[in-house]
Amino acid sequence: MNLLLMGLPGAGKGTQADKISEKYNIPHISTGDMFRSAIKEGTELGVKAKSFMDQGALVPDEVTIGIVKERLSKADCEKGFLLDGFPRTIAQAEALQALLSEMNQAIDHVLHVEVPEDKLVERLSGRRICPTCGRAYHVIYNPPKKEGICDIDGSALIQRDDDKPETVKNRLAINIEQSKPLLDFYEDRGYLVTVDGDQDINKVFQDIQSIIEN
Ligand SMILES: [Zn+2]
Repeated sequence: MNLLLMGLPGAGKGTQADKISEKYNIPHISTGDMFRSAIKEGTELGVKAKSFMDQGALVPDEVTIGIVKERLSKADCEKGFLLDGFPRTIAQAEALQALLSEMNQAIDHVLHVEVPEDKLVERLSGRRICPTCGRAYHVIYNPPKKEGICDIDGSALIQRDDDKPETVKNRLAINIEQSKPLLDFYEDRGYLVTVDGDQDINKVFQDIQSIIEN
């Protein structure tokens, strides 16, 4: 089962990725983890990638796709994989198609976990932090016992600039613009399946299971 997972920040991708990975016994491969392990193992491509990252430069696609190839060739991908955060561009998507066909493989589904933008803003801007102990709360999903006050030390909770609605909206707008061509790419090729992410976590996973198993 070769899967791609797409969705905006706050859509709950990480939670679903863990569930899919566990249930179908396929590795959850995120771009960050892939780079970190290639660098740690000191592979030729890992060393190359690191030299770009150390200069604060973008890692070129041929290096990235090479790292993806090495990762997908590992034994734990025998039953398939769940790619998360890759591809990011059409050029990478095309390179992935070519790579998979070279490996006699194909994508089964591109799962797009969709949540309305206003719900994402609500999810992402509800975070509150205790400046004293660092504990994180959420005004809706994980509220403190007393509004605005840390349960542990009684400090007044703060909202970080990153979590302010305007910042969150701007971040989402950039993400929406970047992901649109990719969603179109996979829709045109018949891979894209949209999952309603604005539901209970377990219901979202049930929907994903019925896509995978049908
Ligand atoms: Zn605290």
